[in-house]
Amino acid sequence: MTFQNTQHFALELDAADPLRQFRERFHIPAGANGQPAIYCCGNSLGLLPKSARAAVEQEFQSWEEHAVEGHFHGTSPWMHYHETLTDASARLVGAKPVEVVVMNNLTTNLHLLLISFYRPNGRRYKVLMEGGAFPSDQYALESQVKLHGYAPDDAIVELVPRSGEHTLRTEDIEVRIQELGDELALVLLGGVNYYTGQAFDMEAITRAGHAVGAVVGFDLAHAAGNLVLNLHDWDVDFACWCSYKYLNSGPGGTSGVFVHERFANRPDLPRLAGWWGHDPADRFKMKKGFRPMAGAAGWQLSNAQIFPMAIHRAALALVDEAGGMPALRRKSEQLTGYLEFVLRNAGLPADVLEIITPGNPAERGCQLSLLVHREGRALFDYLAEQGIVADWREPNVIRLAPVPLYNSFADVWHIGQAFAEWAKRLTR
Ligand SMILES: *Cc1c(COP(=O)(O)O)cnc(C)c1O
Repeated sequence: MTFQNTQHFALELDAADPLRQFRERFHIPAGANGQPAIYCCGNSLGLLPKSARAAVEQEFQSWEEHAVEGHFHGTSPWMHYHETLTDASARLVGAKPVEVVVMNNLTTNLHLLLISFYRPNGRRYKVLMEGGAFPSDQYALESQVKLHGYAPDDAIVELVPRSGEHTLRTEDIEVRIQELGDELALVLLGGVNYYTGQAFDMEAITRAGHAVGAVVGFDLAHAAGNLVLNLHDWDVDFACWCSYKYLNSGPGGTSGVFVHERFANRPDLPRLAGWWGHDPADRFKMKKGFRPMAGAAGWQLSNAQIFPMAIHRAALALVDEAGGMPALRRKSEQLTGYLEFVLRNAGLPADVLEIITPGNPAERGCQLSLLVHREGRALFDYLAEQGIVADWREPNVIRLAPVPLYNSFADVWHIGQAFAEWAKRLTR
């Protein structure tokens, strides 16, 4: 599509957008200018779906009316509450229902999965990850390799872009995997890098990892609700994601886990166990001897977190109602493409503003990361004054993520106008 940098054009795209109604389903806070914010921070915390409050209220109601009996009574008995999230989660990541479960928080789940899937043995003990990965992932891996008695500097191998480049090339990742060969125990990458917005070729990376006998897992914090995922077909071993970014399920929201079907009936896999992962047939007999449930459910520890799950359920229903990830992704590619277009037309020279996210839509999700070489913080503050909610990453990156559920083409056009105005101020 050929874009035009006019408000008229943006409004035409909005009028033709089959998802335009979904914006009304969210609470959009006011920006610093008193107008509804141009909220481009859904990569950090998604907006509140209007349906969430009633979903939580319903569980208050159950608690109020049934107390302990709420586990068995009410509209969604708590005993099985997490199961109500399974099908939607499976659709979300391209999995079979047996391969997914919703539980805990992201970093907790990453640890639980690493206990099972980082199994260093002899020569094979190294982990390949992104250099500058999200700190929680770095700390998780660092502590896991130490648990096994290795030095992080030795056991963790980081991928870094070629000099002069900001993102990783798939072929370089594949070569690194081949070089590590039988020393490589695990590849763990983000599905989308939180800093650069680069989406990795998860299928190719999984194939390369498996070819040398390594396990391959992904942290999908920035990919779930952002990309079309096919974890089962891509043959990914394990993955986890959070629900509060592109999945709009609220601060500290509950997390999703994927474990490939081939591990569904592997009670022998080492894991940290809890009663909620135990065979439900005799969970309440309180007997010795853990017997894991089949599939991802066998990694559960605790009884379900009903309140965050109620929000998550309402939020996932919106994704399905919108037509699922393929529909969201169609709009997302256009929306982010339009953002790239208006930014490139804002009159800011490359020595001031550089977009480090790949230009190829297949290699990115919603987010564009802007490296601002001059007065980045001042630009960020200026955007905030204009009611544009972005986020700032040290030392000089602004991340903007227009999301298809609630951002409009008009939002994006306004962002372009703000950047153009800033360009005039800079050259004045
Ligand atoms: C957001 C994010 C996290 C946050 O982890 P929590 O356990 O949910 O606090 C971790 N890893 C990545 C890659 C993230 O983007």
